[in-house]
Amino acid sequence: MEAPVGFAGVRADSWPRPRAFPRPESLDRTVDVLPGVGPAVKKRLAKLGLERVGDLVSYAPFRYEEPADEKRISELLIDEEAVVEVTVERFSSRRTRRRLTVQTAVVSDNTGQVAAVWFNQPWLEKQLQPGTAIRLRGRLQRRGEFAVKTFDVGDLSATADFAPVYPAGEEITPKKLRELVGAALPRSALDPLPAELKERERLPQRADALWALHRPRSLEEAERGRMRLAFDELLVLQVGLARRRLQREAEIAPSLGPAGELVGLYRELLPFRLTEHQERAIAELDADLARTVPMQRLLQGDVGSGKTVVALYALLRAVENGRQGALMAPTETLAEQHFLTIEPICRELGVPCALLTSSSTKRERDAAPATDILVGTHALIQEGVELRDLAVAVVDEQHRFGVEQRRALAEGRSPHVLHMTATPIPRTLALTVYGDLAVSEISKPPANRKPIITASVTEERSAAAYTRLRKHLDAGRQAYVVCPLIEESETSQARAAEVEAERLRRAELRGYRVGLLHGRLRPAERRELMAKFKARELDVLVATTVIEVGVDVPNATIMIVQEADRFGLAQLHQLRGRVGRAGEQSYCLLISRARDELTDAAAARLEALVRTNDGFELAEVDLELRGGGQLLGTRQSGLTDLKFAQLRRDRPLLERARSLAPDLVEDAGPLADDVEKRFATVEPEALA
Ligand code: ADP
Ligand code: MG
Repeated sequence: MEAPVGFAGVRADSWPRPRAFPRPESLDRTVDVLPGVGPAVKKRLAKLGLERVGDLVSYAPFRYEEPADEKRISELLIDEEAVVEVTVERFSSRRTRRRLTVQTAVVSDNTGQVAAVWFNQPWLEKQLQPGTAIRLRGRLQRRGEFAVKTFDVGDLSATADFAPVYPAGEEITPKKLRELVGAALPRSALDPLPAELKERERLPQRADALWALHRPRSLEEAERGRMRLAFDELLVLQVGLARRRLQREAEIAPSLGPAGELVGLYRELLPFRLTEHQERAIAELDADLARTVPMQRLLQGDVGSGKTVVALYALLRAVENGRQGALMAPTETLAEQHFLTIEPICRELGVPCALLTSSSTKRERDAAPATDILVGTHALIQEGVELRDLAVAVVDEQHRFGVEQRRALAEGRSPHVLHMTATPIPRTLALTVYGDLAVSEISKPPANRKPIITASVTEERSAAAYTRLRKHLDAGRQAYVVCPLIEESETSQARAAEVEAERLRRAELRGYRVGLLHGRLRPAERRELMAKFKARELDVLVATTVIEVGVDVPNATIMIVQEADRFGLAQLHQLRGRVGRAGEQSYCLLISRARDELTDAAAARLEALVRTNDGFELAEVDLELRGGGQLLGTRQSGLTDLKFAQLRRDRPLLERARSLAPDLVEDAGPLADDVEKRFATVEPEALA
């Protein structure tokens, strides 16, 4: 038997025990069943995504307070944080002018007495009966009262020392959150894992793990608690993925046999030789396409690494078998870009190819079934047309392929699916996180590429960056300027971009032909703009992040990103990939505030981008910087939004969960319920 991961040496009986095991349903109750949660607090909790008792219970602290010194009452110093172990003498509660209530407990030890104070917690009266032993952490204030930060009643060996600090923003105080989690905690005894599995893997009880997470006696204990919860989380993910794999293997896809004449012509038509990595990816997908189990392959590679060339190959494999291929992009801009790239090649090969956009006419849509290759957004292709003969679907930049698609297919046939992503993640991770996707990688770009030179430029020196950019323009090259990221909405983003483009036209880019690309343009306007840029009728494209992927203009050799510190690492890397598309030396200038005004994470992102062009390496850095939470390139999936697991740190857990999952697919206990819940909230076929 394989050794259990990370839990060796944990004695379950050494864990802090919850004091109650109430019914699991209470986790589904809304937070206002807890003492101290009225409508106002409820609303603020909701902003943090905390709506149910269970949300609080599984709200992970992001750090713990340092332990404070144990003191006697007589030793307390003003303003110094300390812990005292005391007995309650008497308790009182009063109302202040500002509708606050103040709770005071006079407490004592054998060196003296002090008044301990809380705010707005009238229910404490029940807990703090005279004679109760209590452990307080807080500070002695100037006026002689002890302001309580955290406390424990009864089992004094627990908590307070390593008080959890939760992500709270400005909505609610960390202290309040700590109290609420504490109030929710005893309700959390349901354990989703089969007892036999827990024993075999030597896992602590889930309730114990939660207790250790929120009320640890040491940081090691907190970490072990977190690991158990992370394991649950990863196991749910892996079991769900394993189920899908089984379902899929029951489906039938058309076998496309060996490569034929059409793709042979395609190879001859390409003005270059495929790279070794492209050839390998093609061999891998050819093997998949020959089977009747639908292909589910993830093609990873940086922007410009040559994925689209491989994708078109896959589409043509469908066509040479008398069937259809579809290329689906997440946005219309991207769909149009893909179309512009592949249409000329299809035309030369005599393969009918059509673009479907929201402005396509009914006639164009009706013609879709007769077209060999269709390009459009996921939504359009999935809902807009009937694809009776779809054999290969390429899904760009989104791990999503809806059931609607399946329904649109005749005779229960499923297409082979190739997912493409330009935000690569490390291979082992892809295998474990995506569970059932096979992975092909293009980790080396075509040799004719010169690595993009990236520089980080402070705002004071931005004039120099624009001077550099104008030099490129004067030499007949083209350029991108990326506008600052605005979170609010696409509309405000577009408006801000308009203002900025106008400013640039009058200032830094005066005398040049400047176009503006943003997400609020109508598809036709966008198409026209891109065509103009491609035809060199524009010198500069000022753009929002809509140029993130897909745009391919080899003559563009320099990019300026304004306020680059506000962008994510993956996003900047994607943006940067818009230049350096040909043999020409290209540049990316990242303008940001001065180093001492940046957060460490922002500085680290910029440094990494300057240091390397390798998307796989950047993916590792990004993973490190973000720790847990969202995984690269999966923003839409929701599946990999992890609360406890940190993919980098927990890779052994992830791999263990993956190897256990197949045996748990049939499990019908609470684990199965968790799997269903988890997978119910995401796109039905996401990742599968
Ligand atoms: P991706 O989809 O990964 O961003 P593309 O397939 O769009 O990459 O390729 C980017 C550019 O590189 C295109 O202009 C393409 O024609 C060119 N390209 C692709 N493969 C090769 C190759 N093997 N040798 C030279 N150029 C290539
Ligand atoms: Mg491409």
